[in-house]
Amino acid sequence: MRVLVTGGAGYIGSHTVLALAAAGHEVVVVDDFSNAKPAAITRLEELAGRSVPVHAFDLTDAARTDELFATEQLDAVIHFAAFKAVGESVRKPAAYYRNNLDSTLSLVEAMQRHDVSRFVFSSSATVYGEQAPVPYSEDYGFLSSSSPYGQTKVMNERILSDVAAVTEGWKVALLRYFNPVGAHPSGRIGEDPQGVPNNLMPFLAQVAVGRREKLTIFGGDYPTADGTCERDYIHVDDLAEGHVAALEHLDAMSEPVRAFNLGTGTGTSVLQLLHAFERAVGHDLPYEIGPRRPGDLPAYWADPSRAHAELGWRATRTIDDMCADTWRWQSQNPQGYPED
Ligand code: UDP
Repeated sequence: MRVLVTGGAGYIGSHTVLALAAAGHEVVVVDDFSNAKPAAITRLEELAGRSVPVHAFDLTDAARTDELFATEQLDAVIHFAAFKAVGESVRKPAAYYRNNLDSTLSLVEAMQRHDVSRFVFSSSATVYGEQAPVPYSEDYGFLSSSSPYGQTKVMNERILSDVAAVTEGWKVALLRYFNPVGAHPSGRIGEDPQGVPNNLMPFLAQVAVGRREKLTIFGGDYPTADGTCERDYIHVDDLAEGHVAALEHLDAMSEPVRAFNLGTGTGTSVLQLLHAFERAVGHDLPYEIGPRRPGDLPAYWADPSRAHAELGWRATRTIDDMCADTWRWQSQNPQGYPED
C-alpha cells in the first residue's frame, strides 16, 4: 500500500515508517516539524535505503490537506501527528483541542473527498480513565480521561467511529498504546524530547548521559510490590510492527471500527525500570524518592490478547532490550538529533 504517515518524523512515527518500508509498503510523510527534526527523515532514508517524500505543513490547514490528497495517490492513513504533553494540555486546553481535533477532521474530510477509506489511529491507554479494571480490556465502555490531551484521544476515537459507521467502505483501527520506550537497534533514530522530559525513560537516559543530575521518582508509597508505580512498557519497534499488522488487517475486519491494545501485558515498576537501565549502562544511577505526581495511577497494564488473536501480533522485546536500545540511541546522540 501507499501509506500517508502523519507525524512521520516523530518518535513513534519514524519507527513505523521504517517498519512499513521493511514490510514492502510505500510511505509519504506529513509533518510540520513543530516537535521533530528534519534529521530524523535523513536518517530514516539511510536506514530504509530509499527516499521518503515529505510534506511539511500543519494538518489543521484543511485546504493544504485536501491538496495533498488531490496530488498523492494514497491507500491508507496512519495518524500520529498531535500535541502529546499531558501537563501542557492542562495549561493550554484550547490549543490541544484545536490542534488534535482539527487535524483529524481535515484528514477525515480529505479522505472522504478522495475515496481513501483505511485509517489507523494513534490512541492511548489514557482513554481507560481512572476506573477501568486492570488489565485494561478494549471491551471497557466508559472511556474518559482526566487531561485535555487524553480527552482529545477519547474524542478522536469517537469522531472516527461515527464517521466510519456511516461512510461506505471505511475501516478504522484505534491503537491504544501503553508506554512506548526504546529505540531502533541501530541507535540512529530514537526519542528526542524538547526541554525537560516528562516521561520516565527519556529522563533516565538523560541522567545516564549526564544531562540531568538525578532521577526523581514520583512517589514511593503506592500500594505496589516496591511502592513505585507500575506501567506496561513496550518497545517502540514492537509498537511499530503493531501498526503494520493493524494496517494489513483492516480489509479483513468485519466491523468498520475496532480498538486494539498495544502492550505487553506485564507491569514493571519505576524502580525495576531504573535497575534495568542501570544494567544497560553498566553502573548505578543517582535517584531520590519524591512526592507523587498528581494524576498518576498506581498500576496498570494491557490485556493484549485481542491484538494477538485478531492481528497475529504480540510484543516480543524485553525490558532489557528496551533499555539497551534506548541507551545506544542516547549515548550515540547525547543531545538528540542535530539541528540542520
Ligand atoms: N516517573 C517518575 N519520574 C519521572 C518521570 C516519570 O517517577 O521523572 C514515573 C511516573 O510517576 C509513572 C512512571 O514513571 O509512574 C511512568 O511515567 P511516564 O510519564 O513515563 O508515563 P505515564 O505513566 O504518564 O504513562
